[in-house]
Amino acid sequence: MDGAPASGGQSSTAGRFGPFGGRYAPETLVAPLEELERAFAAALADPSFTAELHRELGAWAGRPTPLTFAPRLSERLGLTVYLKREDLAHTGAHKINNCVGQCLLARRMGKRRVIAETGAGQHGVATAAAAARLGLRCTVYMGTLDMERQALNVYRMRLLGAEVRGVEAGSRTLKDAINEAMRDWVASVADSHYVLGSALGPHPYPTMVRTSQRVLGEEARRQILEQRGRLPDLLVACVGGGSNAIGLFAPFLDDPAVALVGVEAGGRGERPGEHAARFLGGRPGVLHGARTLVLQDEAGQVLGTHSVSAGLDYAAVGPEHAWLAAQGRARYERAGDAAALAAFRLLSELEGIIPALESAHALAWLVEHAREHQGALAIVNLSGRGDKDVEQAQRLGA
Ligand SMILES: *Cc1c(COP(=O)(O)O)cnc(C)c1O
Repeated sequence: MDGAPASGGQSSTAGRFGPFGGRYAPETLVAPLEELERAFAAALADPSFTAELHRELGAWAGRPTPLTFAPRLSERLGLTVYLKREDLAHTGAHKINNCVGQCLLARRMGKRRVIAETGAGQHGVATAAAAARLGLRCTVYMGTLDMERQALNVYRMRLLGAEVRGVEAGSRTLKDAINEAMRDWVASVADSHYVLGSALGPHPYPTMVRTSQRVLGEEARRQILEQRGRLPDLLVACVGGGSNAIGLFAPFLDDPAVALVGVEAGGRGERPGEHAARFLGGRPGVLHGARTLVLQDEAGQVLGTHSVSAGLDYAAVGPEHAWLAAQGRARYERAGDAAALAAFRLLSELEGIIPALESAHALAWLVEHAREHQGALAIVNLSGRGDKDVEQAQRLGA
């Protein structure tokens, strides 16, 4: 499903977000994707499924997470900042919401095995944990370069009972791991479900992942109404594939007074290869099963990307974000490596919370643009905790 659009593949109008999204998949995956779409709809309509999902998210994954007022950061910036604390969710980020949902769905579909791809290892760890909890076998594909860089997460996944398969192809990173995971799924679909890690890929994944992550936005909405008695002026979330952002934004899409800002990785510069800012340099194209904005060269070859934060370092963005931008409902900005590292330190010092470097990009944008939003009531999605990033930050002198 990589690169060249749908060679021998198909697309339907299902799962379209305006001109984006869709299902560009090889013939062999069309029926499984349709089966998944039906199973997902049936599960959502089944109160016993949604009750079990709710129970697992509460008893095992630590939901609801708090919405925390950040007094010292607010004073520093001249606005009122609340943090949605996905850093406190089990395994340290919002990713677990999606993994619990998809693993429960897999079990309901009678699948005994799940497959996942992972870049830095966070989605692999969350999937391995959810699979262990539900008694599913788990195989995680990971580029061998990423395995070297994230050896501890490889150990964590194995500790959680997963099999980690190294991918030697291409750049030996996330993009290549996704290709291998899809290849495995084509061959094993009778028994296996592919747990895709962000609001990406062919339909129904972007919709399914949004539905799982929406819980964090619904909580935030209820919590801000309880704590402030009104809706926020501004929501800010970092955007890798876009799952934490779409989860936060979704329950507010029909509230035009709530501004939505997604923050991408500005990396170390604006030249191709120096960033992962799809809204800066991306053009419509098909990558991994969906039409969306893709960083690509004139010939349609996917460009290399860079970010200090592995979770934001991907050449395409979830198709719904491309559509929200095209409609003017959300805007997409960027923060660079240096600003993110400064925000990483700032939140640690001012609020006693070490954020994930991904989340630090959202904070960094707010820090840089605080002047334009004086007095605003803002919610920043703290998509994850920074324990995984302290070594790297120390090395980079943050
Ligand atoms: C993976 C990850 C992200 C990026 O993924 P999205 O799908 O864009 O949310 C952001 N923050 C953290 C902490 C992550 O682990």
